[in-house]
Amino acid sequence: MATKKVKQQAKNVLKEVFGYDEFRPPQEEVICSVLDGKDAFVLMPTGGGKSLCYQIPSIMREGTGIVISPLISLMKDQVDALNRCGVSAAYYNSSLKAAEAKEVMEKFENGQLDLLYVAPERLLTKAFLSRLEKVKVALFAVDEAHCVSQWGHDFRPEYVRLGELRENFPNVPMIALTATADIHTRDDIVKRLGMRRSKRYVSSFDRPNIRYLIAEKRQPLTQVLQFLDDWKDCSGIIYCLSRKRVEEMAVNLQRHGIRASAYHAGMPGRVREKVQDDFLRDRVKVIVATIAFGMGVDKPNVRFVIHHDLPKSMESYYQETGRAGRDGLESEAMLLYGSGDVNLVRRLIENVENPDQRRVEVHKLNSMISLAESLTCRRKVLLGYFNEYLEHDCGNCDVCLDPPETYDARELAYMVAKAIEELNGDYAVGYIVDVLRGSKSKRIVDKKHDELPCHGAGKDINADEWTSIVRQLVHRGYYNQDISRRAALVPTEMAASLLEKKQAVILAKYQPGIKRKLKRFTVAKDNNLFKKLVELRAELAEKENVAPHTLFSDVTLTELSQLGNINDNDNPFTLVSGMGKHKIDTYGDAFLEVIRSHVGKKSSKKSMADSKPVLLAKGPSATDGQVYTWNLYKSGKSLDEIAAEQGVSQKTILNHFIALVRAAHYVEVKDIIGEERFKQAMDELKDADPYASLSEIKGDLDVELTNEEFRLILAWREGIGVS
Ligand code: ADP
Ligand code: ZN
Repeated sequence: MATKKVKQQAKNVLKEVFGYDEFRPPQEEVICSVLDGKDAFVLMPTGGGKSLCYQIPSIMREGTGIVISPLISLMKDQVDALNRCGVSAAYYNSSLKAAEAKEVMEKFENGQLDLLYVAPERLLTKAFLSRLEKVKVALFAVDEAHCVSQWGHDFRPEYVRLGELRENFPNVPMIALTATADIHTRDDIVKRLGMRRSKRYVSSFDRPNIRYLIAEKRQPLTQVLQFLDDWKDCSGIIYCLSRKRVEEMAVNLQRHGIRASAYHAGMPGRVREKVQDDFLRDRVKVIVATIAFGMGVDKPNVRFVIHHDLPKSMESYYQETGRAGRDGLESEAMLLYGSGDVNLVRRLIENVENPDQRRVEVHKLNSMISLAESLTCRRKVLLGYFNEYLEHDCGNCDVCLDPPETYDARELAYMVAKAIEELNGDYAVGYIVDVLRGSKSKRIVDKKHDELPCHGAGKDINADEWTSIVRQLVHRGYYNQDISRRAALVPTEMAASLLEKKQAVILAKYQPGIKRKLKRFTVAKDNNLFKKLVELRAELAEKENVAPHTLFSDVTLTELSQLGNINDNDNPFTLVSGMGKHKIDTYGDAFLEVIRSHVGKKSSKKSMADSKPVLLAKGPSATDGQVYTWNLYKSGKSLDEIAAEQGVSQKTILNHFIALVRAAHYVEVKDIIGEERFKQAMDELKDADPYASLSEIKGDLDVELTNEEFRLILAWREGIGVS
């Protein structure tokens, strides 16, 4: 068992090296178990924070942590980022020149590396294995571990032999990490890697910071341009089905002054690499791509993903939308849904030769359609597809934000139930609707289904509306679709109640098309400082020839942009997430200069007009959250309730409040902090040493405050003119 002391040490590394205050679940547990010498299997969604699970133990344990990763392009970024935190890390793969490779191996053999990233085919060469025998290995981390399994969706033959590591190094702990693995794949990974006594850490699949939006496709270019208008200067990906559409869209966007590039498999490798690199380095903002784009693109601040066309399956939809918001900041995924696209994908599927595969693909397409047409919380439908059940509606999808009207549909549901009963549960949605509508199609007449009592019983309601009703009954669990029988609707236990008509069946009112207009939050943005910080980051990155996101995340820049007035003696950076010691030493001054000159300019030209409450944006993306918080707060909700309603932590809400208070919004801070603690803090602050740094001041307080509470109180004091 990891002792308290070990836990504290891990936390110190988290703060000093990486600049973070708290572990996210289940990072701490995983780290302690690896430090304890045990194997671990970790399933966390993209952006969940898998890397720290092996980076921190590698730093803490004696010897070098060996990280096996299939994507050469990502190794450099990871290593660049670690180096920027002052960690000694390197990579060893085919992209290195001979002299560079030699240098890396020398450092490795001399025990100078905390982490070494290796491609699997390199690792398993005789030469490398015998090197491993001679050095101290802290741990093996198998990243993208689903590649080991044939069950997984990205099997890589070179991963298979990784099982040999367990035999050759029985005492080195091994940690396998992935973001995608169903139950079979998980078992398979553990077995193939020969992991022992390994505990499995599985976190939810959900990506709460991604807002899912699905809109009826009408004028796609206009719709895309309108959407981009809300995300000015932010990075995003637009997926299109064909190369032709990709190229057209890219040109159109460029004409509208958007820094967009096309990307598809028909382009020469060299050009594709350049586009990808430009995107990573923020030279290009929007990538218009076929599904060829994405693997190996680990850009944390992708703010939106647009599906211009219908994805083929929920799996691809989830994976592609999942490329947004890895940094945890608010992001959006928008799908433009048009019936023309459905037919296009159907035709593609008809060309599939193997009937079994064809059936599977039809089913996958149908699931995708039900998501698009669903009138219930999108996230519920999505997660449900992956066997995860959300208890509450998510509050962060188009349906939740602008719910459709509902009604008691028990009469109509009864008609559907009757029809399905009379048809013996042998038919799919389309056929059932045709029978209800009284169609005399050849198939119906041949089967004598025009003689059934239900035939024509629902002719007053149009086919689209019936389809929506039947689909909703499926979503609500009254029927299952049997894929092995052409998606025939089979009653579940719940369906019997429909025939009794005793209970209300609440369905969403059908609206032709998907026309609901999404309420958008609008606020005055003042994110100029954030923009300046982004520029500074780009400059520094250019100078060091690394990708900007390996220097600082958008989260860090956002928090920096909120620091407000900084006195000469302050060391405000220790309060900012992602500013470890090494980064403060290396880059602190450059950032201070920009912040000071910005804040100075602003206050010197303060006029009456400026004193109007203006929301100080937390970077371009988080304004929605602040407004949401503000509205909930005004409606009388408590901190707890506001956090619960948005499904985010109290810490996040406190950050919203800090920004609100700084932007002259009246927030009763004493109620948020608790009257007693607030009073005590205000009292103690009166006596604070005016020359001490903020973190020293905080350390001197007797009252215990989180960093956010502390900053909120400071913001309040500033607001009432105490400084
Ligand atoms: P994954 O590999 O699971 O996709 P990463 O390891 O790249 O995710 O982490 C995603 C982002 O979250 C990174 O910017 C990382 O620095 C940040 N992060 C990870 N752990 C924490 C933490 N405990 N506190 C704050 N930020 C964190
Ligand atoms: Zn929802």
